[in-house]
Amino acid sequence: MRLSSDNKARTNTKLPALENKGKIRIALAGNPNSGKTSIFNALTGESQHVGNYPGVTVEKKVGKIERDGRFIEIIDLPGTYSLTAFSIEEIVTRDFVLREKPDIIIDIIDSTNLERNLYLCLQFQELGVPIVGALNMTDEAIRNGILIDEYQLGIILGIPFVKTIGSRGKGVDELLQAALNLADGVIEPSTRKLNYGLELESQISSLISVLRTDQEFVSRYPLHWMAIKLLENDTDAVDRIKRRHQNSQAVLDAAEKSRLWVSRHFGEDPEVVVSEQRYAYIHGACKEVVKIDSSSSRIDYTESIDRIILNKYLGLIIFLGIMFLIYHITFSVGNPISGMIDYFFSLVNDLITHSLSEGILRDFLTEAIISGVGGVLVFFPIVILLFLGLSFLEDTGYMARAAFVMDKFMHIFGLHGRSFIPMMISTGCAVPGVMSARTLVNPKDRVLTILVSPLMMCGAKTPVIAMLASAFFAHRAGIVFWSIWFLGWVVALIIAKIFRLTYYRGEASPFVMELPPYRVPTLRGVLTHVWEKSWTYVKKAGTFILAASIVIWFFLYFPRPQKQIDDYHRRVMSLKQTYEVQASHSKNSEERTRLRLDYQHQLTEMENKLATEKLRHSYGGRLGNFIEPVFKPCGFDWRMDIALIAGFAAKEVIISTMGIVYGIGTMHDDEIPDLHGTATLKEKLRNDPMYNARNVLALMIFILLYVPCIATLAVVKKELGKWKYPIFLAGYTLVIAWLMATLIYQFSAILPIGG
Ligand code: GDP
Ligand code: MG
Repeated sequence: MRLSSDNKARTNTKLPALENKGKIRIALAGNPNSGKTSIFNALTGESQHVGNYPGVTVEKKVGKIERDGRFIEIIDLPGTYSLTAFSIEEIVTRDFVLREKPDIIIDIIDSTNLERNLYLCLQFQELGVPIVGALNMTDEAIRNGILIDEYQLGIILGIPFVKTIGSRGKGVDELLQAALNLADGVIEPSTRKLNYGLELESQISSLISVLRTDQEFVSRYPLHWMAIKLLENDTDAVDRIKRRHQNSQAVLDAAEKSRLWVSRHFGEDPEVVVSEQRYAYIHGACKEVVKIDSSSSRIDYTESIDRIILNKYLGLIIFLGIMFLIYHITFSVGNPISGMIDYFFSLVNDLITHSLSEGILRDFLTEAIISGVGGVLVFFPIVILLFLGLSFLEDTGYMARAAFVMDKFMHIFGLHGRSFIPMMISTGCAVPGVMSARTLVNPKDRVLTILVSPLMMCGAKTPVIAMLASAFFAHRAGIVFWSIWFLGWVVALIIAKIFRLTYYRGEASPFVMELPPYRVPTLRGVLTHVWEKSWTYVKKAGTFILAASIVIWFFLYFPRPQKQIDDYHRRVMSLKQTYEVQASHSKNSEERTRLRLDYQHQLTEMENKLATEKLRHSYGGRLGNFIEPVFKPCGFDWRMDIALIAGFAAKEVIISTMGIVYGIGTMHDDEIPDLHGTATLKEKLRNDPMYNARNVLALMIFILLYVPCIATLAVVKKELGKWKYPIFLAGYTLVIAWLMATLIYQFSAILPIGG
């Protein structure tokens, strides 16, 4: 493989101009999935999320590096196919180039789809920014038998090209060097422009002469580009003329006249003619520089898989099946590992119980820290495995297919095809999910998507629902979890339909979905993904969840029912004395055993009673008791209510709160044979008569649907600007959750549910 050796040869003809030695700004642009983020990461050493979702990068991401003592700022722009003004990515990218005028644009090109990718490249060239092309996915291209002569291509288009493999960081140094050479003038920036043919060019020239009538406008915009945009009747360009050009009316009139002329002459809309010219030019260029090795059959291979996977009905079933498989594997592999961590924490718990004397410190450590934070960390393996599965799907190119399949389906429910992406991202975490809804340009589509995305299963609900599923549905945990995940989709889609039919009336706007070729994911890519997400999980457990656990522990621990506690101790003492006297007088070992069991039984009963009283007496307990009637129809008792209230902060907190509730409910009195000190939370719940398959099912559904966490509400406010949205979101999800949980609980009495 030749990685840019030709470009080097070209840049070695050292030209003198080396004045521009200050800070340099380089913007990365390109089609979605062309590998921008991979190259950004390779250049800056950061690990930003690489994804196979179109439009994951909506916000510009900036990285700073130093090379040979100079500062280079690298900006990762959103992925776009073109620079018209049809989507928010296009507008963001275009505005950035026009307003911020980066020194260099590196256009990342997917070599396996050269013609389509060059379309964008040419548009950048028209904008008049110095541009370097990265022929990325070189490995894929070679495998597909696509051989590109990048030197020749560079000569034809007047743009330096460098071959790269972004996912492995190959050729990235050469790419940066080429960009710096262009910035330094070692390579001459291209003055070449695509020629649109005699007829179009004559219209363009006449438009340019009208545009020239405003000097300030001339300094602001590349005129050739502006003229073409006017021919294309680009809304944003027309807008700019109206706002910025002195003689805007004259310009618009001239544009109208030219458009009319072009449509008459070509019998087509001018925008079609313009884009055909660009494609014709590109096609010609590619014919010169691309050789196809016909012995390779990879393209057909992708197509034949697609025929099955993209099938309207089969595709949907495959998507659901794949997700089921992921959850099933996750649970069968994850549960035993999770059990080991659980066991480890119970050992630590024992160690603390035996080495510290009774008191608040010991209670705090075992209840708030071990039960609270430990309880969340126990589910770490399950979360990692889930992320592993999802990252794998994303990197193979499957997720884009799933979006494609779901597109038609989403339309039935009045959602935009692109809504699938925020919703699918929300199954990881609703915060980036809500943010990625920016790719929806139509405000109604966007609000609708944001309002239903938090109903999805997410990384924080996962451990809670996983814990309940594996505690009460044993080997069926996988399918139960999958059903809950599926229910999230169903409810979200139905709610979307309801909103669409009432408040957010209108049609979802159409969109085109790019399907990247299937790729074998690189180990590094998948591991980077998983690492980022897992690290976030652990960090959250160590900071936010820890803090929340401490606060919640405080509210569940204080105030203490001192009278009952003293009472309890007195009664334990007397019970113990009675037992010892009786035991010493007992005649045979049989009676002694009976006495001991009886004694232990009474102790446990007293202990449980006190635990309940302590909890009931606390601030949290009082609140739980107060609202108990509200959730009675769902089958929840006041202790579950406490956990659910705590879950407003973040869904993982539900687990830590349950851990604390049942931690406080466990005595650590050295005098007393510890009956369930080492039992795991799952066992404790199973042994609690208040929990059964029916209300646990209702509980899981409630947790899935009810009020999104604080972070999500905050990001909804930030994205949509008004408080009314997060308030409405919190309110309606609470109502839906209550209704669904009640429905399931009441109806499950007649259904055969159990574990
Ligand atoms: P972006 O959408 O343009 O930011 O693209 P990403 O950087 O997220 O990359 C999309 C997918 O292509 C990821 O799975 C990358 O690992 C993969 N990828 C990126 N560059 C290459 C490459 O040169 N070769 C191959 N085979 N895969 C790549
Ligand atoms: Mg990206």
